[in-house]
Amino acid sequence: MLKLKNICKYYNVGKSKKIILDNVTLDFKDRELVFILGASGSGKSTLLNIIGGNLSCDSGEMWLDGECITNYSDKELDNYRSSIIGNIFQDYNLIDYMNVIDNIMLGYNYGLTKKEIDVLLKQLGIYSKKNVFVNKLSGGEKQRVAIARALVNNPDIILADEPTGALDSQNGIEVMEILKKISNNKLVIVVSHDNNLASKYATRIINIKDGKCNYDEIKGNSFIVSNFIKKKNNIKTILKLAVRNLWLKKTRTIFTSLAISLGIISMSLVINLYSNFNSEINKLESDIVSVFPITISNDKIINNTYDFDKTDGKIGIKSKENIYINKIDDDYIDYIKNIKEIKYINYGYDMFIPIISDTFKIVDNNYLKAIPAVDYINDNYEVLYGRNIKNKNEILLKVDINNNVDSELFNSLNINSEIDFNNIIGRKIKIISNNDYYIKNGNYYVINENNKEMYNKSNNELSIVGIVKEKEETDNNNYLYCDNSIINDLIDINKNSDIVKSQITSNYNVLGIDMDKDMLLKYLGYELLPSSINIYVDNLKDKKVVIDKLDEYNNKFDKVIYIDTMAEAIDIVRNFISIISIILILFSIIAIIISSLMIGILTNVRVLERKKEIGILR
Ligand code: ADP
Ligand code: MG
Repeated sequence: MLKLKNICKYYNVGKSKKIILDNVTLDFKDRELVFILGASGSGKSTLLNIIGGNLSCDSGEMWLDGECITNYSDKELDNYRSSIIGNIFQDYNLIDYMNVIDNIMLGYNYGLTKKEIDVLLKQLGIYSKKNVFVNKLSGGEKQRVAIARALVNNPDIILADEPTGALDSQNGIEVMEILKKISNNKLVIVVSHDNNLASKYATRIINIKDGKCNYDEIKGNSFIVSNFIKKKNNIKTILKLAVRNLWLKKTRTIFTSLAISLGIISMSLVINLYSNFNSEINKLESDIVSVFPITISNDKIINNTYDFDKTDGKIGIKSKENIYINKIDDDYIDYIKNIKEIKYINYGYDMFIPIISDTFKIVDNNYLKAIPAVDYINDNYEVLYGRNIKNKNEILLKVDINNNVDSELFNSLNINSEIDFNNIIGRKIKIISNNDYYIKNGNYYVINENNKEMYNKSNNELSIVGIVKEKEETDNNNYLYCDNSIINDLIDINKNSDIVKSQITSNYNVLGIDMDKDMLLKYLGYELLPSSINIYVDNLKDKKVVIDKLDEYNNKFDKVIYIDTMAEAIDIVRNFISIISIILILFSIIAIIISSLMIGILTNVRVLERKKEIGILR
């Protein structure tokens, strides 16, 4: 049972306090039809709103079944409003753009069952109008819809604020008849200023004047039957409501989820892609780190960090300071020999190496390439046929990733029809030393044209013992891989050759070609220092140490610029991918922000649009 104790309500009007309710104390029975009468502005609606939990009082207490509800939390109040109270208003408060049943079910909280609701609609005479939009209904019908809505949650208390105020007398009577019936098992409190209706239907009349209840007449029978059953919104009903709500707004729900999930999915895809790519690159890097050497050469190196002035319309000149010439010297060679993290060192020389095949054809010397070590092949190459080299008289044919070989190389080996691996194994080439290659002719030397003679004279026979290809493709060219030491042996022989000796003592070019003396000596194999160094490492960790040591040397001594081709190439790819990823991530973030904004705006619009609905719901 509901009790009001010393309820006071004030409004501040300007600086003065306007008292609306002044110490109102009332007891309500569980089943009665109470009329609250009073002049307009006397505070009837205020009192009803306090009872309904829509308005708080300034002092006093409200008790329900022995529990003080004045200090209920918002959540408890919501529960009170939705399951204990049913409201009926003078102007119905229906939503015009919804049909009857949707209006009724708007605040549905699992009070009555579906069947009971149908029965209720039949009793109220609006069952046939179930699917009619409420703006097509008469006032009496509208108020019945409102009554049905007040009853669907099977509340214990019905609060009706001037329910007949907008109705003609016939409809007013019908509505009162309904309320009277309801009061057979609920507390119905009706605010009215119609004394006739009150005297006809009320079981009890309360008069409000100057904020006080000055008349409390008990008329007819009223009951105290049972305690109100406290219904709480449990998690299940809240979940049901939430799901139902989502279902009612399914298009919006779907679009909202779609927009947000698209944004999130695309962002995580990009991040995933990026990290996958990064780990792929890292894997690739460590896979091929042992293939790509760090290269040092005696070349001119243009300082890239220097910004050349851009010249318009005429040719600019790069000054010498920006062109650096590397000089590999003994100190440097000693220094790198002592770096233990280096796996192999391969030296390159400017010496020209004449090669003749077993069919007496010249083989372009660019095809001959010294490998740093036998293990280098085992680590990075796949042996397609034959075997790896075991000694310095053996060579390998390196084919490209598709097992192809230049026709030029094959021509010089005289293989041009159906090519079988078998035909290649066992084929031979010979390296020709200076003394066989250059013939003295007066003060000059000429090249021996007799390939067969040179071939037969040479002791430097190399035979192909295997065909190899790279495990990871890094170089598409074909080579005849030979052992490092062959080059060193040839240098040893050539540096004492006749042509070298005579070039050392002559101040003209003994080949009669346009090449300076030093250059020619290098070309002929008289050189003690390599023109290039390739440094091979085993793994990325070692590589870092090696690079640090090379940098350390450069900080202390004459700078020797090295080129880390692999790192440069990989960095370019990395940067490129980072930029693309950043752009894609930015796009997804923008998509998420925009979709969130859109959702926010949409929701806001909906809230503004449906203020009434939300009010009714609360
Ligand atoms: P009625 O008995 O006609 O339903 P109300 O309860 O609506 O009267 O109002 C009682 C008095 O309180 C009126 O004089 C009204 O002007 C005043 N009142 C209602 N709400 C406010 C408010 N928010 N601020 C100030 N005065 C208000
Ligand atoms: Mg009023």
